[in-house]
Amino acid sequence: MSSEYKIIEHKHDVVVVGAGGAGLRATFGMVEKGLKTACISKVFPTRSHTVAAQGGISAALGNMGEDHWRFHMYDTVKGSDWLGDQDAIEYMCREAIPAIIELEHYGVPFSRTPEGKIYQRAFGGMTTHYGKGTAQRTCAAADVTGHAILHTLYQQALKHHAEFFIEYIALDLIMEDGECRGVLAWCLDDGTLHLFRAHQTVLATGGFGRSYFSCTSAHTVTGDGNAMVLRAGLPLQDMEFIQFHPTGIYGAGCLITEGVRGEGGYLTNSEGERFMERYAPTAKDLASRDVVSRAITIEINEGRGVGPTKDYAYLHIEHLDPAIIHERLPGIAETARIFAGVDVTQEPIPVLPTVHYNMGGIPTNYKAEVVTLKNGDPDTVVPGLMAIGESACVSVHGANRLGSNSLLDLVVFGRSAAIRCAELVKPGAAHKPLASDACDQALRRFDRIRHANGGRKTADIRLQMQKTMQSKAAVFRTGETLAEGVAGIAEVVESFADVKVSDKSLIWNTDLVETLELDNLLSQATVTINAAYGREESRGAHAREDFPGRDDDNWLKHTLVWLENNQVKIDYRPVHLYTLSDEVEAFPPKERVY
Ligand SMILES: Cc1cc2nc3c(=O)[nH]c(=O)nc-3n(C[C@H](O)[C@H](O)[C@H](O)COP(=O)(O)OP(=O)(O)OC[C@H]3O[C@@H](n4cnc5c(N)ncnc54)[C@H](O)[C@@H]3O)c2cc1C
Repeated sequence: MSSEYKIIEHKHDVVVVGAGGAGLRATFGMVEKGLKTACISKVFPTRSHTVAAQGGISAALGNMGEDHWRFHMYDTVKGSDWLGDQDAIEYMCREAIPAIIELEHYGVPFSRTPEGKIYQRAFGGMTTHYGKGTAQRTCAAADVTGHAILHTLYQQALKHHAEFFIEYIALDLIMEDGECRGVLAWCLDDGTLHLFRAHQTVLATGGFGRSYFSCTSAHTVTGDGNAMVLRAGLPLQDMEFIQFHPTGIYGAGCLITEGVRGEGGYLTNSEGERFMERYAPTAKDLASRDVVSRAITIEINEGRGVGPTKDYAYLHIEHLDPAIIHERLPGIAETARIFAGVDVTQEPIPVLPTVHYNMGGIPTNYKAEVVTLKNGDPDTVVPGLMAIGESACVSVHGANRLGSNSLLDLVVFGRSAAIRCAELVKPGAAHKPLASDACDQALRRFDRIRHANGGRKTADIRLQMQKTMQSKAAVFRTGETLAEGVAGIAEVVESFADVKVSDKSLIWNTDLVETLELDNLLSQATVTINAAYGREESRGAHAREDFPGRDDDNWLKHTLVWLENNQVKIDYRPVHLYTLSDEVEAFPPKERVY
């Protein structure tokens, strides 16, 4: 097999797969620490999905009123519906403050208060005094915060002379004796294959939103890293928890940020009623995303949806001063005009809950090391492998992520990965020899899909998968719909054996790219629907109509799910219900920004 494809070999201390917010922050952090680091990305770094983040990034700076990282931690634990690991949540909320100051110093052009401090807006689920007041905790650069952060991080990476391999698609992890030894990638530009050998491989490949029909994520968000982990025989965690954002534009699925409601926007039904007052009398339109998504779905199901088909809700900002919209929400005004034909200063925006974020992913500890359940130890570190960002499940978001905590997760754990790598890897250390057939398994998959010559088009199989996920693993789930989903997805997976790739070339073969991505998405869909079927309770984003209550006695645990030869295996890991025991070790003074 190895002889049929010529493989170009590279040796680095660390290889980072992904150049979104998480991957970029990790990459230059590694370089800063003297580690020879390669960053591989299938898209140009500033095209990563992070660029689309609108609303902002949370940190208890207290610029617009009282705040404390302990309030932030409380909200995050509660928002996670108690499924988040509390040591990791403490780490994130404490480190948030120096992380934002660090971003400011790197050059992120945050919006400002009249006194010149970083502007902060209210976001769902963010409170002061442990649920009593409303916190303004979300730092924003107008409504283009992700764009501002991603460009700044890319500039920092360039400043540090990080080594980029752009438009290289990582195909599979190279594993030997249970250790990760690097990654095999395909260069789209000239069709060559590359083996990146590294002491640590950091997956920062983002989520897998595209397994659904209507989602806010970019078309490239296909769970490639997660799928590589499954193929390496390792589990994914809490995959049943899919966040629906309550306000995707009806039809197009594009996001209208929660920041809109943070600035005073509100939802109405066909009777013109501000229905959130009924579902969440205190937080109202700023209740957490799962609550608002379910409320809109109930309104629609009970016949109070708006529009000719009564299947969406209205989001209003026409009462806001146009100057405020222009200053703080210019991006969504443009999105609403293009994708809904709406002038937001005059009329409401038609919205519908849309898949937005994957709480589940590759299980890690707060040092970004990938963990697995082995010989009864649920925190066994997989040597040589790390994961950060949306592809990881640290787990700081548990069963439901609070808005603006993801951008924070990217920078805090991107940095944490760099700190851990510096502890684990000696710059320039020799690489252990690698077996001559180490890449064979990865090459076999690549070759099989490249030469696939069946009767079904990639796009048809993908659509069938997306429609099945959209209808069977939706905002509300029942055992019956999930069982249909399990069978439906198994059928789609089976039909993938009959896929056809028409273009057999190796240079910019987008047909092959999409088919490889579909293969990755299918594994994500499979483990998601099976994990959802398995969890017989309602928690966070996982709302089972047949098990409406949270069941801590039986289900206060993380789901682990493996996939071998299309067979799903499920086991569990305990939730870390403890905070960081040794704060000195976790926050060495030299690592703090101030
Ligand atoms: C529309 C939208 C708005 C959002 N708004 C907010 C917000 O306001 N606040 C907030 O906190 N969160 C927000 N989120 C969530 C947050 O933006 C994402 O969770 C986060 O940006 C993910 O970052 P990441 O670095 O993990 O991955 P991404 O930014 O998705 O980047 C993934 C990277 O991996 C690379 N990659 C993937 N597969 C491969 C492969 N096989 N080979 C090589 N490279 C690969 C890609 O090229 C890319 O560089 C939003 C999300 C969306 C979709």
